[in-house]
Amino acid sequence: MVQNLLFGTAGTPHSSKEHSSIAGIERVKELGLDAMELEFVYGVKMSQETAAQVRKAREKTGISLSVHAPYYINLNSADKQKLGLSRHNILQSCRIGALCGAKSIVFHPGFYLKDSPSNVFKNIKSAIEGLLETIKDEKISVALSPETTGKPSQFGSLDELLELHSQAPKSLLTVDFAHLHARSNGCLKAQKDFDAVLEKIEKTDGQLLKALHMHVSGIKYSAKGERNHLNLQDKANDFNHLFFLNALKEFNVSGTVICESPSIEADALLLKSSFARL
Ligand SMILES: [Zn+2]
Repeated sequence: MVQNLLFGTAGTPHSSKEHSSIAGIERVKELGLDAMELEFVYGVKMSQETAAQVRKAREKTGISLSVHAPYYINLNSADKQKLGLSRHNILQSCRIGALCGAKSIVFHPGFYLKDSPSNVFKNIKSAIEGLLETIKDEKISVALSPETTGKPSQFGSLDELLELHSQAPKSLLTVDFAHLHARSNGCLKAQKDFDAVLEKIEKTDGQLLKALHMHVSGIKYSAKGERNHLNLQDKANDFNHLFFLNALKEFNVSGTVICESPSIEADALLLKSSFARL
């Protein structure tokens, strides 16, 4: 299969004419990038009317869209109201995202709190199965893409999300490589470490590598995991984007690479041009 990798920004590029999703999509196109993630991280505030306009901009430009759902989601909450709100936030992200023409809905699944990881897995799996059913009933054509998270206190290691996909195959995943690196205090050091991530995904389900949703950025971390994102070429960053891109090439990965560095468009362009030179 011919490799098809799209590169884009997490949200509207800073250099857009105005700070709107539509201006963002147009700017992404002008920059020569391919994709944009709509950031619903502080709540799904976009109206259906705006979503219809976003869809038009998407169709006119051919820019591929995804959605990042609100941050304050916890599908492991024991509080029924908080759990209901988490479900609601994901579903609204799916509904509005689908109207925009987005394909993947990214979210951080939840926190362990004081529960055992196996109980948390059960809770989150059953919540996601319920969401998948609602999406099917409402005929919303988006993929649920729980993301690998950056802190060991958050559910969402690569193993957990791959196991979730094995048990609920319609649940895909977003692989945030900077988060994987930060989560285990800097585990992605050499080329072989990046290769091992893709090898593990391939072993679980090779199809995943044909349309993988990915996040990447420079990152600052401690033993407690992620602290903040950095630009790829920041001196304090030790996440090696060239090893990352080499691995994508070697495993013939297709899909979307969303850049979450502070300089979103500069680093997205750096990733795209570096990949083209491999
Ligand atoms: Zn995220």
